[in-house]
Amino acid sequence: MVNCRSSSAKSLVDGCVAGTLVHRGGENPEAGKRFRAQCCPRSGTGARPSRGKHVTQPWSGQRDRRAPLAAKGGRSPVVVIGAGPYGLSVAAHLRAQGVGVRVFGEVMGSWRHAMATGMFLKSTPDATDLSAPVAGARLADYCRAQGQDELTELTPIPCTIFVAYGQWFADRYVGEVEQSRITSVERGPAGFVVHVEGGEELAAQAVVVATGLSGLAHVPEQFRAVTPAGPHPDGLVSHTSQHQDLARYAGQRVAVIGGGQSALESAALLHEARAIPTVLVRESRVLWGELPRLERPLPHRVVWPSAALGTGWSLLAVSRAPGAVRRLPAAARMYLFRRALGPSGGWWLRERVEGIVPVRTGCSVEGVEADRSGGALLRLSGPGPDVLSVDHVLAATGYRLDLERLPFLAASLRREVRRAGGSAAPYLSASFESSVPRLYFTGSLTAPCFGPVMRFVAGTAFAATRISRHLSRGALRP
Ligand SMILES: Cc1cc2nc3c(=O)[nH]c(=O)nc-3n(C[C@H](O)[C@H](O)[C@H](O)COP(=O)(O)OP(=O)(O)OC[C@H]3O[C@@H](n4cnc5c(N)ncnc54)[C@H](O)[C@@H]3O)c2cc1C
Repeated sequence: MVNCRSSSAKSLVDGCVAGTLVHRGGENPEAGKRFRAQCCPRSGTGARPSRGKHVTQPWSGQRDRRAPLAAKGGRSPVVVIGAGPYGLSVAAHLRAQGVGVRVFGEVMGSWRHAMATGMFLKSTPDATDLSAPVAGARLADYCRAQGQDELTELTPIPCTIFVAYGQWFADRYVGEVEQSRITSVERGPAGFVVHVEGGEELAAQAVVVATGLSGLAHVPEQFRAVTPAGPHPDGLVSHTSQHQDLARYAGQRVAVIGGGQSALESAALLHEARAIPTVLVRESRVLWGELPRLERPLPHRVVWPSAALGTGWSLLAVSRAPGAVRRLPAAARMYLFRRALGPSGGWWLRERVEGIVPVRTGCSVEGVEADRSGGALLRLSGPGPDVLSVDHVLAATGYRLDLERLPFLAASLRREVRRAGGSAAPYLSASFESSVPRLYFTGSLTAPCFGPVMRFVAGTAFAATRISRHLSRGALRP
């Protein structure tokens, strides 16, 4: 049991553990029927938006034209590594404050390349806004500008729309984004020396790490025996983050490991692509989100208020006050981090899985070996047969937030970064600064400090305002 020092911390944690993302109330028999018709018919099946090329778009909109794109007063810039929701939001705020910034990475790169075609977001439209310091930058604004139907809680958002929204946001509120990868960051005279893929070396006063879950995919030990060179879509075992097109497994038997959204949605997509998936879930049952209710009576809304992460007072607290989560005792924060919003499937996914894809619950994979036919033989514990023969294993086994797995951070720098108690993620100040001055982190890596909202797009506003305020109000003074 976790030792939560205060009872209020404990009840907050327990309330969050009970919740699941994007629950919005009870049954709505109409909602399921409407799902297929409503999930963005104009764009849900369309091709992915074109890639960001070199993403040096001319400025088209809201940014103050006086704000420099590179450095202020000839000083070294702030370097933002990563152009996903967090990197773009931080960059938008910094540029609006007149801070010199260079942003590196492909706009919405993870959403273009680390998610399978046909996936939808699990979060609701209201919880999926990137953050800019001016009005008009929300997902709803983007949809309106494109003449698309309004998104509601009954409209799961296709990844394609979210990518296009991110690109629109970058064009309007960020400006130049350099598509190159950062290969290393080490200490230097100005603060840091940053090496860019292609050979450029630049001095940076401050660095914001916004690389999301890149490099942090986790495949459990027992699968390593059959993947000595690491998981790969062409090998016996792969991780969900390595896929864009699951149709490559058409006609093949695939064991999908995990009981969360990623596993369940991958299984649905595999089945729809004529593969033969079996989902193996360690937990005793699969949890599903509830059908949202757009209209809720006042008493229901009082008892179960809406929040970015779902409904209920506890989820409201952790959604609205990540700063307060940071002040909880380390044990409570880690309990929240490990248990809040555990694995579950989105309400709209249920009809594509239940009764359609075989799901074995209470089932653990004890070992894996290659069989003679070139497939994999899984040894299982739990109810049902104790072996399963498949052509491929798809690990939907999540991510490990471990600083050691950010190869671009020099080992000496990683050693200097203090860790959040009980985790391998960085411990951060209230402004997201690590124990290395002017080295900031955002996104999932900050969830052990600021709580579950940082695992989602919903945390961008909090992170971007804190970091930009800190950098523009003195952190950059010599
Ligand atoms: C399958 C899946 C589904 C999800 N669904 C949702 C959802 O519905 N709602 C939600 O709120 N959250 C969801 N999430 C969580 C999601 O990852 C975050 O909410 C969001 O993408 C975090 O944004 P980010 O900017 O921190 O990271 P990312 O979006 O991952 O962006 C990080 C970027 O950094 C780039 N990068 C990495 N290393 C370098 C480098 N060395 N140099 C330059 N660039 C680099 C990457 O290419 C990437 O583009 C989901 C996650 C997964 C894995």
